[in-house]
Amino acid sequence: MKVTYIGHSGFLLDVSNAYFLFDYYEGDIPEMNREYPLVVFVSHKHADHYNPAIFELAKKYPNVHYVVSRDVPVKWKIQEYMQQGISLEDKVSVVRKNTDTELVLPGQKETLKITTLKSTDEGVAYLLAYREKKYYHAGDLNLWLWAGESKQYNDNMRIKYFRELEKLRGIQLEAAFLPLDPRQEQDAFGGMESFLEHVRVRKVFPMHFWGDYSVIEDFLRKHPEYEEQVVKVGKMGQAVDIS
Ligand SMILES: [Zn+2]
Repeated sequence: MKVTYIGHSGFLLDVSNAYFLFDYYEGDIPEMNREYPLVVFVSHKHADHYNPAIFELAKKYPNVHYVVSRDVPVKWKIQEYMQQGISLEDKVSVVRKNTDTELVLPGQKETLKITTLKSTDEGVAYLLAYREKKYYHAGDLNLWLWAGESKQYNDNMRIKYFRELEKLRGIQLEAAFLPLDPRQEQDAFGGMESFLEHVRVRKVFPMHFWGDYSVIEDFLRKHPEYEEQVVKVGKMGQAVDIS
């Protein structure tokens, strides 16, 4: 498995003979093998998770498929491309929270199982099962505690976050992409800490840190026990090979 950090919450996951691209909004997408399936995921419509430029990939990659959360306004995009003579209709799957979808990957006969969780912000998180392995991209599903919020808000947030984490209990993940957001200040580590306590995962890729890579260093300084698991993302375009 090879993982490329594209920018913010955007990652390209390169597994055997397939590509999964998550939450692209900025940065360069690496060149890929056009014969392999490429599945492009959008967790929700916020501008830092969804860039309509992803649909340009359909011009270059014949085996592309899009999986987008229901809140993402894709209908008019599909129409726009239709006018250019590009049919996206069969290439887009719209998903809602708490559902299972089986997608036969274009260009091959393998099935990708897509399970959605309910975000604590907007849209969904994605749990993928492909060739006996599992991967998870949180989107904006995180423990969004804020010092300035009411106790009731933060208590409610905890309930909602742990309800979703429960769904991952007992699962072994190859890779998880998780928010680590320095704007939360003293509460920035809570989501990732709880995740690592509850879920078995080989490699964790921090994201949504707004270009402030130091938050990853800070996390690992507090938690040296996760040095092996948490990948120190250091720049856009960085690729990590994990055998
Ligand atoms: Zn976001």
